[in-house]
Amino acid sequence: MKPRRFFIETWGCQMNELDSQRMNSQLMGEGILPTRDARQADIILLNSCSVREKAAHKAYSRLGEYRKLKRSRPHLMLGFCGCVAQQEGEKALARLPDLDFVVGPGRIGELAQIVAARTKGRRMVATGFPDARVRNYQLDAISRETTYKGMVTIIEGCDKKCTFCIVPSTRGPEQSRPLDDILREVRHLLAYGFVEIELLGQTVNHWRDPSTGDDFAVLLDRVAALPGLARLRFITSYPRDFTPAMIEQVGRHPNICPYLHLPVQSGSDRILRRMGRGYTVDTYRALAVRLRMTRADLALSTDLIVGFPGETEDDFAATMRLVEEMRFSQVFAFKYSPRPGTAAPRLPETAVPRPIADQRLKRLFALQEGIQQELNAELVGSSQEVLITGWGKEAGSQTGRTACHRIVHFEHDDPPAALGTLTRVRIEHALPHSLRGCRVTPPQTRLAAGAEAGNKAVAGRRELHPLSTP
Ligand code: SF4
Repeated sequence: MKPRRFFIETWGCQMNELDSQRMNSQLMGEGILPTRDARQADIILLNSCSVREKAAHKAYSRLGEYRKLKRSRPHLMLGFCGCVAQQEGEKALARLPDLDFVVGPGRIGELAQIVAARTKGRRMVATGFPDARVRNYQLDAISRETTYKGMVTIIEGCDKKCTFCIVPSTRGPEQSRPLDDILREVRHLLAYGFVEIELLGQTVNHWRDPSTGDDFAVLLDRVAALPGLARLRFITSYPRDFTPAMIEQVGRHPNICPYLHLPVQSGSDRILRRMGRGYTVDTYRALAVRLRMTRADLALSTDLIVGFPGETEDDFAATMRLVEEMRFSQVFAFKYSPRPGTAAPRLPETAVPRPIADQRLKRLFALQEGIQQELNAELVGSSQEVLITGWGKEAGSQTGRTACHRIVHFEHDDPPAALGTLTRVRIEHALPHSLRGCRVTPPQTRLAAGAEAGNKAVAGRRELHPLSTP
């Protein structure tokens, strides 16, 4: 009998990406195999993201495309997963009579049972946030996309109430995983030859061990000290939650990458208050200065929302000034879009007209593009450690990431180094969004067999952005 096949389409942040990896391994554990072609699949899962505008509309329209496949393949099972699925719940099953199940992010760990129940005939909605959701992680039950970079969730959900953000309702209340579980998972990955670990959470630096109360500084220290870990990243940090002890750890461990995503959202105190962020531009600035004093090579990236309700030209000018001053290595900027159930749409003062928000966003991108080009140009002539992560578009080239997360293209040797190899590249050209150079040393770290192939089982279109929003 031919094995069943599944296809997962993933939208959104690293959390969703990791959730897809968890879904992937659960299905593989049931003997269902991945396919890169949705038309060959017996199970299609849409892992949706609700951060952007018209998220539900986009998700239903995508599901509509998959439903067409059901006409010629009536046995095809269609699952709606992720943050929009959490929001829509029962409504989705009622609206789409041929939708087979709905699974929210808090119930991903139950996918295998849900598929089994549907195979027996039951349509299901599994949403909500069980108390034990972070204690039920099975370390082997994640089908990693590569064999060199592993993402590890340390905290789920968010208790903050930023007025524009839907995350607290789609990912539920905050829950931290125990320190020992996290260390066990990281050790497990290192034993398999992983060299880079990325700790994930909507407010990653708000993690606390549920029994001892140890904070993120302790966790950073313990994880960074694990033998064999070449690179440690974490995303996304909430500015208000950064403590001096955490900054100290960033300075103390050279394997903590000098790249930090620290969303500021606006350069205007008035707008930050309306967003309910709980910090001012000055406190953000002071934090950035302290971090840069601790690590001179630190690259900071940020999120910005343009056109938040009531944003005046003066508020926007303050954001532009902050961007000029901070010289972020990357800015993820978006036009404000009202999300269901959030407080911002109810704020007094009218929304910023769309043409004005469009124009502000364009000005912001133009400013940032120039800054990025200058920052990249400063690296020309330097030698950078690069983790090789892929093949370049041009024949004979490979790509990788510096510790400060810049993309580097370089010509490969013959034979090329395996993906997951750490190497050194001398930077020769700066492009607006990447660097080009040539390798100056042979590979330093080789991974276990199969590293090049990676596990590409999580197939499908990706629209990735950083965890964003904290
Ligand atoms: S923006 Fe970040 S910190 Fe604020 S509510 Fe959303 S996830 Fe939480």
